[in-house]
Amino acid sequence: MQDKQYLMVPGPTPVPPAVTAAMSMPIIGHRTENFARMYEQIVKKLQKVFQTKNDLFVFTNTGTGALETAVANTISPGDKVLALITGNFGERFTKIAKSYGADVIEVNFGYGNDVDLDVVKEKLKKNPDLKVVLATQNETSTGVCNDIEGIGALVAKTPALFLVDGVSGVGGIEIRVDEWGIDMLCTASQKALMLPPGLSMVSVSEKAWEIVHKNNSPRFYFSLPAFKKAYDKWNTAYTPSVSLFYGLNTSVDMMLAEGLDNVYERHALLARATRAAVRALGLKPLAGDHCASNVLTGVWGPENIGADALRKIIKDNYGVTFAGGQGPIKGKIFRIAHMGFCDKMDIMIAVSALEMGLVQAGCSLELGAGVKAAQEVFLGR
Ligand SMILES: *Cc1c(COP(=O)(O)O)cnc(C)c1O
Repeated sequence: MQDKQYLMVPGPTPVPPAVTAAMSMPIIGHRTENFARMYEQIVKKLQKVFQTKNDLFVFTNTGTGALETAVANTISPGDKVLALITGNFGERFTKIAKSYGADVIEVNFGYGNDVDLDVVKEKLKKNPDLKVVLATQNETSTGVCNDIEGIGALVAKTPALFLVDGVSGVGGIEIRVDEWGIDMLCTASQKALMLPPGLSMVSVSEKAWEIVHKNNSPRFYFSLPAFKKAYDKWNTAYTPSVSLFYGLNTSVDMMLAEGLDNVYERHALLARATRAAVRALGLKPLAGDHCASNVLTGVWGPENIGADALRKIIKDNYGVTFAGGQGPIKGKIFRIAHMGFCDKMDIMIAVSALEMGLVQAGCSLELGAGVKAAQEVFLGR
């Protein structure tokens, strides 16, 4: 039994040593000038990642808290909402909207598919009274990336607000909040942003603020107007996780130093290598090439052994953890994350462990086929 672990699940993800070191700095009080200056720096840097001039809040809660913040502040009971669902996280966003009394039109494109823009166009036309449209940038349960730019362009022509769950995508896949007309973008610390769980972020457009102030859903901890009052003095309404803020300041610095374009290209390269390896091993990625995610790859398990049994062999023998399926594809797929603090050699480890696991599970394959396919992608051959 070995101790060394290789975490390759889509959240939480590995944390760089520099970020861990930053989080060990002495705690400071949050009602101080030092905290205010740090929060201001963090927001200005994150605005580059979001590509926005909008207000951008950092909350001490997880991604689901960000989604609830977006819903609680824009949806009043009885409001008509269009939910574009491509998997488990689209379903969750929908459930939150329903729990706030929304009248939801659900369009489920199915696990493994992306949002069809023609359907969005038709639904928007049929429902001119929509208050909000919900979408997921990167559907973590399947490894599908949706065309947020395309959806945003359609929603922008209507009075509806466009709320986007970017929890697993932001930091690994480019997103342009202002250009693409995203009224609220939600994300969290423990995915591509290379931090432990515990922080979430939400940007709020001018168009959204008008609705936020008029909204009459019950809200207290998630009240944006309360946060805005503090934000105007670079503070938070309630006690922030100061250590995670230190870490966030460092992780965003790392991303900006690498260059955002390089960060996104690195993720795209890792995704291409992973998909090539999976195919070379005779397995099938869940998502089609046109919508395959750059931050994780969902893979159908081999026929002779369940995906979860395969994951167990790989975890027990090699310390490599892949994620399982969710919802209707639970037990049928496994997911290899390549988001955040992840590089070429992490993929080599993952693919090599996958090969050995498949052989141990009784699959016939040529050892090295997956590794070779990934190496060829990395060598540009
Ligand atoms: C992880 C994730 C969430 C949920 O975030 P929590 O931090 O677990 O609350 C929501 N949406 C997507 C797309 C995710 O990947």
